[in-house]
Amino acid sequence: MSTAYLNGEFLPLAEAKISPLDRGFLFGDGIYEVIPYYRGKSVGLVPHLQRMLRGLAEIEINCDKTLAQWSELLDDLMAKNNGAEQNLGVYVHISRGTDSIRNHAYPKNISPTIFCFTFAIKDPEPAQRTKAAGYTVTTSEDLRWKRCHIKSTALLGNVIHYQQGYASGNHECLLYNEHNQLTEGSSVNAFIVKDGVVSTPILDNQILPGITRGIIIDCIKADGSISLEERVITMDEVHNADEVWISSSSKEIAAIIAIDGVKVGDGTVGPVWEKAFALYSAAKFN
Ligand code: PMP
Repeated sequence: MSTAYLNGEFLPLAEAKISPLDRGFLFGDGIYEVIPYYRGKSVGLVPHLQRMLRGLAEIEINCDKTLAQWSELLDDLMAKNNGAEQNLGVYVHISRGTDSIRNHAYPKNISPTIFCFTFAIKDPEPAQRTKAAGYTVTTSEDLRWKRCHIKSTALLGNVIHYQQGYASGNHECLLYNEHNQLTEGSSVNAFIVKDGVVSTPILDNQILPGITRGIIIDCIKADGSISLEERVITMDEVHNADEVWISSSSKEIAAIIAIDGVKVGDGTVGPVWEKAFALYSAAKFN
């Protein structure tokens, strides 16, 4: 049984209980993070925590822990879950807290509910394109809200889009806005490759500023041998791309080999993915 953290206490996950009047439960009123640790070494810990603190400030949840205190808490949680021996994701959830009534207005004088637990994550993909798994996706108009840069626990929009892909036997659902422009996937950021150039949508309120996305951009730029652009990408470009990738803390960089049942490029994991994945794998613990 894994050990969780709830409001100042470490306890077995099955014993962690919250009130049904918690605003996370009633309204999805909270912020969350998922941070990967490979045998105790975290990927992107500081940017993950910075994004979380930004999200809390944006929705006015007052949580007085500093970045250093969060990092220490997660180290303790890792130690209690034998994190040095296995690959674990850490889920961190901060809701506005438990009220005494159900009312939309932010209540005054309540403390946030803080909940963290760990879960097993897979080993990274093999770094060779001939061995790496290829993913398939569907597509849909992005029908979520206009604050997708906030990592909110209110994920119903994402869940419905994820299910559109999952129900038809696919791994994800790529989303586009009313102008037929790529935004992201239901739980991932997205990249395309055309003629050797990697492109990914710009950061705005339509997408989550993914930590994996950031590491990919930084390591490709630092290496300098692959061109990379952050720009508006149309769905026509997605359908005509040589390679399409999705990225997240749990999937790292995953190559898409079919979109809506149609092959991407020649339908195999591509050479630019292989190069970028090698760069990412070398940079991810920095
Ligand atoms: N977009 C969405 C909607 C997400 O939920 C996630 C995280 N699962 C991502 C992008 C990727 O973010 P990160 O690389 O920080 O995991």
